[in-house]
Amino acid sequence: MAELSLAKVIINISHESVDRPFTYIIPESLKERVNLGSAVSVPFGAGNTLKKGYVVELTDHTDVAPEKLKEIADVPDKDISLSDKRIALAAWMKRNYGSTMIAALKTVIPVKEKVKESVKKTVVRKKTPEEIEAYITGNKRNAAQLRLLNALLDEERIPKSILDDKLHILASTYKKLEELGFIDIEEERIVRGAVSMNVAHDSHMKLSPAQQTIVDEVRDDFDKNIHKTYLIHGITGSGKTEVYMQIIDDVIGRGRQAIVLIPEISLTYQTLMRFYKRFGDRVCVMNSTLSKGEKYDIYRQAIEGEVDIVIGPRSALFTPFNNLGVIIIDEEHEGTYKSETMPKYHARETAIELARMNNASVILGSATPSIDSYYRAKIGEYKLFTLTERLTGNQLPNVIVSDLRKELREGNRSILSRDLQELIEDRLNKNEQIMLFLNRRGMAGFVSCRACGFVVKCPHCDVSLSLHRNGKLVCHYCGYTTDNYKNCPQCGSKYILGFKAGTEQVEEIVQKMYPKARTLRMDADTTKKKESYEEILSRFLDHEADILIGTQMIVKGHDFKNVTLMGVLAADMSLFAADYRAPEKTFDLLTQAAGRAGRGDKPGDVVIQTYQPDHYAISFSVDQDYEGFYEEEIGYRDLMDYPPAAHMLSVLVTGADEKACEALAANLAMGVREHFKTLVIGPAPASVSKINDVYRQVFYLKHKSYDALVEIKDFLEAALSTRKQFKESVFFDFDPQNGY
Ligand code: ADP
Ligand code: ZN
Ligand code: ZN
Repeated sequence: MAELSLAKVIINISHESVDRPFTYIIPESLKERVNLGSAVSVPFGAGNTLKKGYVVELTDHTDVAPEKLKEIADVPDKDISLSDKRIALAAWMKRNYGSTMIAALKTVIPVKEKVKESVKKTVVRKKTPEEIEAYITGNKRNAAQLRLLNALLDEERIPKSILDDKLHILASTYKKLEELGFIDIEEERIVRGAVSMNVAHDSHMKLSPAQQTIVDEVRDDFDKNIHKTYLIHGITGSGKTEVYMQIIDDVIGRGRQAIVLIPEISLTYQTLMRFYKRFGDRVCVMNSTLSKGEKYDIYRQAIEGEVDIVIGPRSALFTPFNNLGVIIIDEEHEGTYKSETMPKYHARETAIELARMNNASVILGSATPSIDSYYRAKIGEYKLFTLTERLTGNQLPNVIVSDLRKELREGNRSILSRDLQELIEDRLNKNEQIMLFLNRRGMAGFVSCRACGFVVKCPHCDVSLSLHRNGKLVCHYCGYTTDNYKNCPQCGSKYILGFKAGTEQVEEIVQKMYPKARTLRMDADTTKKKESYEEILSRFLDHEADILIGTQMIVKGHDFKNVTLMGVLAADMSLFAADYRAPEKTFDLLTQAAGRAGRGDKPGDVVIQTYQPDHYAISFSVDQDYEGFYEEEIGYRDLMDYPPAAHMLSVLVTGADEKACEALAANLAMGVREHFKTLVIGPAPASVSKINDVYRQVFYLKHKSYDALVEIKDFLEAALSTRKQFKESVFFDFDPQNGY
């Protein structure tokens, strides 16, 4: 019998029952076009309906009877193929995070379809810098116009998308300046090899000795074909980005490519323009607002070698470069690097695996490294570098701590401390701007005493208990339940309450206290539409408001030169979320918030309001003492066997039927207990115990060995595959970033 050409194909259906490869014959006519990773169309099921799938293996051997084999129908042109490395990466993700193979494949190829070519818009300066200067200085101009004109003084051509996204320029401003003859908007269809911007023209800076050491060491390792993960711990302004760029420059000089991950919200106009100026049209930016077609275009350019550098959020990791040389992850501590859908992969770990497969290096950078990464650096898994000097000359802000217990004791029941009130008045008088930051995380109700700061915690898990509507306090890790207190067990005060104030209430109160001040609010409610997010930022930059009140969104990334006061209204709120990472997140947020004030030439003040000024996450952030915080935190993780001291797997079981959901969770947990003779924490209702009438039960496992947890996950997947009705209702999360 003639040798068969066969392909094993994963079919594009996300059901466990078909999540295994099916074997197909490659017909003679398609031999040239079917490769490992090709997207193919195949007849499937009794009706031979055509389904899409991916080739995950090529072989000449099968146990299936030849007469039962069907042929691949087509290799549709419009689908991008996967390379074998991509398949290997998907398999790695499936194994290490738990998901179907098709979900993992879809993650590594987020772009599946070619959409019509997109239009690239470039804003071009049409008057001389002198004319612009004259226009600017002649009159008091609208601030959005000023932002745009100032940017054009530095750069004659700027991609419109950068101005939209990063300088928050609205259509009306473009229109006005077009009418006045200052700008033109060029539209150009993206064609292969088209130059999108001026060529690179920014030359290297002379690095500081500390910066140079990093660049040299990474380069020397590269020369020796040693590829490590390097962690740069350096405060904002210490020159990390400059280091990244010089390393990238070296790597692309070797004919290799670079992926740069930066949380979208932290990628400022200045940083983006630095990359453009340095690398010109060799760099591409990916963001969540890109259309499928635009993303496709970036992928195509990467495959065809037309770009060497892609900057973007988590998913930019999957840019299909042919010869990847380095992956840079800035702000590596950010929670957004963890995917919230299955497979729940962490971009850092996945980057390290991808780099290993490609013989590439990984550079992590942060002012407040994740405890996980710092730990790995300390035990020698990563190579640690520290940058301590600020190269910008901007001063660190002055941090004031307001003890809210003391405020209450001295008769101030306002949500604003007296220090903060005084400073707000001062800034309003000086016509400077103010941000008030309310961390909404943990709103779902930790309970604390306003008089002494006592927080009700679980006796078994050392996380705070959450107040439920039925008045009970519940631990979301183990299910421990107790009655709420009427009086504080520590001091007897009756002011023991769940913290309830949201941004809306804060805005009302602020408006009453400062009737002349103009306020803006930015939170999930006011930013539902993308334009409103841009609009709020734009209006605040234009100084249409004096006080911006908001959630996390306001502390990241934006450069507000006129903001000289940042008030953190309730630092404790994020501290006692039912989540072991709460102190780490609080430390990061407070450090970041402090960095928001005084970005221009004016020095800034930061007021941190708290019931717990002595809590280590607060006191170390006030002192900007990362090392101190790390030592304290790792001691606690060690004691509790939380990551990175050990690994953790959370298993979320969901279902519309409450009893069935509980029973399944209990059953799975029991199965693990019996089979592995190991401790299972829970199951218990998740902190959000029901979403859209779907019940949520969660249980946890901890183990020193990650692989031991993978085995447990495999065991659970196998158990689930026999229970058809529950196929898609169980979710795995390794080393979870958030509590459930
Ligand atoms: P980070 O990424 O750590 O915030 P940057 O690389 O953005 O730091 O550097 C902060 C500022 O210092 C930038 O304006 C940058 O241009 C400047 N800078 C960086 N390295 C040097 C250097 N070696 N000499 C002079 N200025 C530098
Ligand atoms: Zn008390
Ligand atoms: Zn507990």
